Amino acid sequence: MVAPATSANVDAYDDFRKLWQDRDLDLRILKEPGYAKLNGLLRIVPAPKETEYLQALMAHPFKIGTTVEVRQGQKFADLLKFIFKGSPMLRFAGALLTVFLATPVPQAMAQEGKPLPHSDERYKADILVVVAHPDDEAAVTPYLVRALDEHRRVAVVFATRGSSGSNEAGAEQAAALGDVREIEARNALATLGINTVWFLSGKDTATQDVLVSLANWDHGETLEQMVRLVRLTRPEVILTFLPGAFIGEDHGDHQASGVLATEAFDLAGNPAVFPEQVAGPMKRLEPFLADLRPWQAKKIYYFPDADREDIFRGKGPSYSVKEVSRLSNKPYWRMALDAFRAHQTQAKSYLDKIAQMDEAQIERMATSEDGWGEDQHFVLGKSLVGGSVSGDIFEEITPGAIPYARPEAVPEPARPELSAELGGPWSFYAEFRRAHGLGNLPHPEPPEIALEGPGTLVIPLWVRNQTAKAQEVTLSATLPAGWTTANGSGRFTVAARRTAAARVEVSLPALPDKTEKKTVAQEVTVRAEANGQVIGEAKLRVELRKRALPE
Ligand SMILES: [Zn+2]
Repeated sequence: MVAPATSANVDAYDDFRKLWQDRDLDLRILKEPGYAKLNGLLRIVPAPKETEYLQALMAHPFKIGTTVEVRQGQKFADLLKFIFKGSPMLRFAGALLTVFLATPVPQAMAQEGKPLPHSDERYKADILVVVAHPDDEAAVTPYLVRALDEHRRVAVVFATRGSSGSNEAGAEQAAALGDVREIEARNALATLGINTVWFLSGKDTATQDVLVSLANWDHGETLEQMVRLVRLTRPEVILTFLPGAFIGEDHGDHQASGVLATEAFDLAGNPAVFPEQVAGPMKRLEPFLADLRPWQAKKIYYFPDADREDIFRGKGPSYSVKEVSRLSNKPYWRMALDAFRAHQTQAKSYLDKIAQMDEAQIERMATSEDGWGEDQHFVLGKSLVGGSVSGDIFEEITPGAIPYARPEAVPEPARPELSAELGGPWSFYAEFRRAHGLGNLPHPEPPEIALEGPGTLVIPLWVRNQTAKAQEVTLSATLPAGWTTANGSGRFTVAARRTAAARVEVSLPALPDKTEKKTVAQEVTVRAEANGQVIGEAKLRVELRKRALPE
């Protein structure tokens, strides 16, 4: 009989040791799931299996390649010797001990084992999609239909309810529009058979600046929600918008959803992050502690919504959307378009037009003009299980958990004592790529942005003075004809050992040809000089448009 050790809430290393020394044990070390070191404590948590047993976390984590069994009679000290001296296991990090208490227990303690609850299998996902607004899912539904054909389980997270913008279907605006759009998004995905859909508390924010979106979303709160949903859905793969600033649709919220998903990818496996989510219940009807387990997803892929596509080519897999689904006998793109029909508030006029067409007309228009027939391209963010860059999304993915993997941060570049560089979202993204080990993530050089003309371009700068005395810095801008510096040029003092934020504002003219929707991007340069020398240059490619989101 396998008996639980008093279903023991044994948290402390010493308690565990005592428990172990008192008994004959049957110990197995499994390759399986991912728990990592937790502050030197030996933490024992219930895990889902047919028989009850305890999972224990070693104070000094290690990983093994095969299952090792230590039979009855092992004492704790012997066991440690075995583990730490006996094999090459120590070369690896982050593993799991599963302790079976297989000895017949003394009569007084003998009792029938009651099963502890498992994680809910209904919410286990293979793919977790993270986007910003209702209808954003259409950026990836043609691929999702293929994945559903391959029996993948798909869950979707929307960071906002999409409560801004115009309403094509009714009078509702603001929060009420968000309520309507939540249902539209749920209906769109239900058309494809995807019912595990969540909304974070982020607020639809009309901006191109990812930092403004994150600020308006209450970044910390939405991240906590995002990490919780990764732990709940335990995805193999996360698919999300590419976190970067490009000329394109380039909504700050789209970027922010990619940032949040990347952060959650790197944090959800760490038991020290939002630990209340991975704490076991302390009460019968536990109201606060979530009893989730840490989860490390295996891969993260991005889909860009930039105009230019050249810099993303070959950075990840591509999928045709013209194959016919086994589920519906329709091409993938057609199923995605069918799902999109739920988005009346955003596209009623377009959908009404389609409703008047026959099948051949729909195919002609949708595939030639509207891009529904285009291949789906992904950019590999990172894989913790190997596989090739442009190989299938599920290449090298096998069932079961993997250990938590701390991202390999790239160190900050060395800078001269006196320097100036582009700030705002651009410097954030440089930090972001370094912090999350995304050195291969494509980004435009020089950075680029599309803005409405007439209007204002703000160029944020960091001016760093690590010298021991105050420095005079002169900022000047080189601009295309007809563009003027409105503010921020001239001479400034930066105190000793200080980093100062500066801002150069450029007035943008109207589009030269009123009938055009946009112009060719032009280059803007801001130069910072001190002591007669250039200490930094910020370059931007700027495209003027008739309409664009605020910077
Ligand atoms: Zn959107």
